[in-house]
Amino acid sequence: MELPDFNGGWSYTQKEMTELFNHITYNTDYKILEFGSGDSTMKLHEHFSKYIRDLTYYCYESDPNYDQYMSNSNYVSKNINIILYDINNIQSVEIPPIVFDLILVDGPHGDKRSLWYSKIRNNIKKGTIILIDDFNHYACFSEELDKNFEYELLSFSNTPFVPNGEHSWKIIRVIRARNTDIYIMNNFEISEFRFLSSLQSHVCSNLNCGLLVIKKNKGNMNQHLQEIIEKINRGENFGLIRPGDGEFLIMQDKTFTAQGGDDWTNHSGNILGTHLSESLKIILPNLYVGIPCNECNNPLTPQLYISRYNTPKSQITYANIFCNSNWPTFIQFLYSYKKGFYLITCGKNECNFPIKERYIIDKFLVNNWNNVWLAETTRIAEYVKDKQNELICFAAGPMTKIWIPICMQLNPNNIYLDIGSSLDLFTKGQENARSYTNAQSHYSREICDFKNSL
Ligand SMILES: [Zn+2]
Repeated sequence: MELPDFNGGWSYTQKEMTELFNHITYNTDYKILEFGSGDSTMKLHEHFSKYIRDLTYYCYESDPNYDQYMSNSNYVSKNINIILYDINNIQSVEIPPIVFDLILVDGPHGDKRSLWYSKIRNNIKKGTIILIDDFNHYACFSEELDKNFEYELLSFSNTPFVPNGEHSWKIIRVIRARNTDIYIMNNFEISEFRFLSSLQSHVCSNLNCGLLVIKKNKGNMNQHLQEIIEKINRGENFGLIRPGDGEFLIMQDKTFTAQGGDDWTNHSGNILGTHLSESLKIILPNLYVGIPCNECNNPLTPQLYISRYNTPKSQITYANIFCNSNWPTFIQFLYSYKKGFYLITCGKNECNFPIKERYIIDKFLVNNWNNVWLAETTRIAEYVKDKQNELICFAAGPMTKIWIPICMQLNPNNIYLDIGSSLDLFTKGQENARSYTNAQSHYSREICDFKNSL
């Protein structure tokens, strides 16, 4: 078998094609989908036609000149289905209901090619090969791929992008489409609110900007709290979530009932676990994640957490940032926060905090999550979408960890704090009081410190 010459000028490099053809199996019937056409389309089609009796070749192209070029070229094949589409309206492009053996993602120019992955979820099978050309040119190419598919990485080159030069690629073999309810939900929310394009540009362009970082990432939990309070007082908008033991048990699909007066029960098979694990993968430049320190004796150590979720170290803080020895300071801060704050909670007790409005949620959302997640998440999104520069405190248990990243993507112009149980004593009463609220308890004196462990 002889490979066509892809050297110089083509959209794929010879090395990339050699790598690709190492993984191609020639069947009598073979289906190819290509985004972005060119000379290489003809070369590939010619090549495959030699070895495959029943070849299907679809090619999506946004540049009408290419189409013209193809029909004027000597290589006229009625067997290439070229479909012209509007680059500004990829959302409405329809892909035929064909399961492809090979998918090449090489167009259009710019970050819009990341939009294909969610559209081809039904066009793949176990074993479909996908080639992503220039995968490192925009962070969202890889992110969207990872969101939509579980796959085996066959080959990749991480060469930095140079126009018309050597470039990066990734060749994968699909295992299955991921369960992406949370992302489908995101799209649903956003198209409802007509925010789709603003969300996508926000996520893609800001991902690595890291404008807001906890200073030097040093300091114990007391010092981190001071920095968080200063951020709030300066009016910086950010989010903070604190995934804890409960969330990790849910992600492990365990059946259990929460302690400390929460009383909800997670049943194995709850979609909440999938939502949580998808949610923790969302990295936003001003989303901080509180995790236990090494001395907290949590099986998920800071090192494991960072390697699993790739959270930048500068965005890691303490799981108990509002609890233990920090609790009195934090409570005093909220109590004297003149602007007032919104509180998302199931606690209905009267209290003297400057709460502008309480948004009441059901105490048993975890139990019913499979049925209520979409409606409840839509309700939260509606609630925050028009708020500007507000402090919004979430005491919504595991849902907090899903809702804050969604709220930040919908509307980054607020502060979204996962305050957990820290106000429960006041809003739910003494029977919900955690031990750290008792000054006699050793929990009230605990000071976590990452020291040099990160
Ligand atoms: Zn600790």
